Amino acid sequence: MQLDSKLNHIIKIAARCNLNCSYCYVYNQADTSWRDRPALMSRETFVATIERIRRHCLLSSQTQVHIFFHGGEPTLVGADRFAWMCGRAREQLDGIAEVGFSMQTNGTRLTAAWLAALREFGVQVGVSLDGPKDVNDIYRVDHRGRGSHDAVARGITLLAESGTPFHILSVVQPGADPLRVHHHYLDLGCRSICYLLPAYTHDTVGPIRKRFGPTPCADYLIPIFDDWWFNSSIDVSIREFWNLSRVIMGGTSQTEIFGNRPLRFVCVETDGSIHGLDKLRSCEDGMSALPISVHDTDFSEIAEASPFYARIMEGLPLPTGCRSCRERDTCAGGHLPNRYSRARGFDNPSIWCADMLALFDHARFRMGVTVADTRRRRRALERIRNRELSAQPAL
Ligand code: SF4
Repeated sequence: MQLDSKLNHIIKIAARCNLNCSYCYVYNQADTSWRDRPALMSRETFVATIERIRRHCLLSSQTQVHIFFHGGEPTLVGADRFAWMCGRAREQLDGIAEVGFSMQTNGTRLTAAWLAALREFGVQVGVSLDGPKDVNDIYRVDHRGRGSHDAVARGITLLAESGTPFHILSVVQPGADPLRVHHHYLDLGCRSICYLLPAYTHDTVGPIRKRFGPTPCADYLIPIFDDWWFNSSIDVSIREFWNLSRVIMGGTSQTEIFGNRPLRFVCVETDGSIHGLDKLRSCEDGMSALPISVHDTDFSEIAEASPFYARIMEGLPLPTGCRSCRERDTCAGGHLPNRYSRARGFDNPSIWCADMLALFDHARFRMGVTVADTRRRRRALERIRNRELSAQPAL
């Protein structure tokens, strides 16, 4: 990683969760490293993390930072400790960088005290939910196997009624009725939704394909795309469709699920250890971990500590099997964890390759933009960018 790379930061303030979702890539797939970590991040480790962020801002002239509070379940730290963390981050970075905050939660533990803290620091909230009760509660259960839907819906209602901005993170559920799921979110007052592809690899996707056919994700997403395209009001945002439209129009992807864009974030665990792309936990035990910690190393030293991660952060080469694909510039191999196999590492097209092709074909049909149109637009945008760059005065 370049010394001057601008970074965002995922800070895992809790390494445990009150839920035990069966597909969770942190607790129920390949990685087991959470077992040895402190349940909650200490104040000392949090301060050390912000100090590394401060040093990186100074080194890289970064003047804006976004901190994503993550877990496990971040609300396990309690609203008072969370408010202290936000305040402390602002204080330590005062005069160096403007700080924004997000929190990714399962929403089951939100209370009036939490809403006050979230509002005080302008925290954007992501809530995980997979649909109505009968869909969500198949996988998103607590440690005694009880469904989480009703508690999440209570949390969402609190957020909506208090005017706290939030979005839903929803994992595609092959076999479920996608429009029922989508309209459930709209009925709950959600206006911003992210649909995530399930975090399987080439080594683990077999049973899903056997049960749900060759394009389970496209079968799920295309009806939602059409509903969004034809029926949604302007205030309904679906991150993946917005990015799909953007890359088809020749722009760059702002999501990791396609586009193979360089990663510009790092993750810090409750013990201060530094990790890269969190979802690589679904590939192999320990794959997301770097051999460094905020207690001993600056973020600018990631490249020396782990050449493997430096390559990942810059964007891995296109998989061999994608080189002659019509969507090689837009899909670009898909989401990194979905490319992985023990036999070939990341040199595979995504497990959701057929889904991607179907989704791109469908969106192109609706938008009336061919692959040749996209390539023309990319070249034109590139020319405009170059002209703008050459017109800038030399420093
Ligand atoms: S659609 Fe398939 S072959 Fe094409 S770039 Fe994406 S993963 Fe690769």
